[in-house]
Amino acid sequence: MAKLNWGMVGGGEGSQIGPAHRLGAGLDGEFAFVAGALDHRPEQGRDYGQRLGLDADRAYGSWQDMLAGEKDRPDRVDLVTVATPNATHFEITRAFLENGFHVLCEKPMTMTVAEGEELVHLANHTGRICAVNYGYSGYSLVRHMRAMVARGDIGKVRVVVAEFAHGHHADATDADNPRVRWRYDPAQAGVSAQFADCGIHAMHMASFVTGQEVERLSADIVSGIPVRTLEDDAMVNFRMDGGAVGRLWTSSIAIGRQHGLAIQVFGETGGLRWSQEQPNQLYYMPLGQRLQVIERGEGNLSPEADRTSRVTVGHAEGMPLAFGNIYADLAEAIRARKDGRTMDPAANLYPRAEDGLRSMAAVFAVAESGKADGVWVDARPPMFR
Ligand code: NAD
Repeated sequence: MAKLNWGMVGGGEGSQIGPAHRLGAGLDGEFAFVAGALDHRPEQGRDYGQRLGLDADRAYGSWQDMLAGEKDRPDRVDLVTVATPNATHFEITRAFLENGFHVLCEKPMTMTVAEGEELVHLANHTGRICAVNYGYSGYSLVRHMRAMVARGDIGKVRVVVAEFAHGHHADATDADNPRVRWRYDPAQAGVSAQFADCGIHAMHMASFVTGQEVERLSADIVSGIPVRTLEDDAMVNFRMDGGAVGRLWTSSIAIGRQHGLAIQVFGETGGLRWSQEQPNQLYYMPLGQRLQVIERGEGNLSPEADRTSRVTVGHAEGMPLAFGNIYADLAEAIRARKDGRTMDPAANLYPRAEDGLRSMAAVFAVAESGKADGVWVDARPPMFR
């Protein structure tokens, strides 16, 4: 079976997230990395691309050159990953979708709700995939949590508690460091800092696992380091369309916390608990019984978990393999379209433009509620009201 052709915009040398994409996309041998505009500095991007193995004529100096160079090639890229800074996502993603490419865009997908709606419409209109990299939804046991909730193992969900709290911006003496400062500057970051950066991962995961969408929310936002204009800590209460009550805490000043993404779901007949830093164990408490530890890689957990577990039980898997599962979903989605068949339902779980849009609506709702002392606001994008 011929490999699919894959390209990247962003993710240049020294970038934070570029290597995880290359590891994830390369995991199954489904994608061949053939093109890239990897850096905002053309020469560095061309040079690094060739060192990574791209042909010289496909190691582009800019995304515009990549689009022009790829669009008429018979072997053009099947999927483009956009892993550039947030403010550039919309323009680049829109341009590639308009030219008929499938796109995997980093989060947050856009800077405004209107831009998010435009990408949803464009993906629907062109029939192209516009996926968003909520990569942590690729973890095998997160997929298993979703399957357990969907098949009724914990009954109707009452409460979901999501966290994404780290301590990497907690040093007040470092707040003026340009690498940190821009994140809390509205001119560069938009209306929200910590919630838009990390909170949306936790909120997406709450929706992904419960199968419910956020309808309204109330936010308490603060700048724990007072020179910051935007929030570095937020507590968000929310209500979901299936009746679940949501609690979400996100922070960048939680000293001692590392990545800090975790989720708990409490239903009428059981509870589930999972943490991204120990992703190979899922804690399951059935009502009136004893606590059970479900290990990733145990046989016959669920089709969704079995498909996304890559190494034998007892050997740790981590984040690049979760990203690999998003790429595996996308490979299956692209191949199913090429072959004119229905895709494997267990792979039909990659986050969509609609998820990216819902996150943007939540970001603006958090900012609005936070400014109004926690007043409850509608968190849905206008097109889903
Ligand atoms: P970074 O600053 O470390 O790297 C950005 C890269 O993009 C650099 O190589 C830069 O040269 C390149 N770049 C910038 N503008 C470009 C342009 N116009 N054309 C081509 N290349 C360009 O940033 P990062 O931390 O890797 O974050 C990138 C994106 O990924 C952000 O949107 C961020 O929110 C997201 N991210 C997502 C996750 C996740 O878990 N899904 C984790 C970290 C970052």
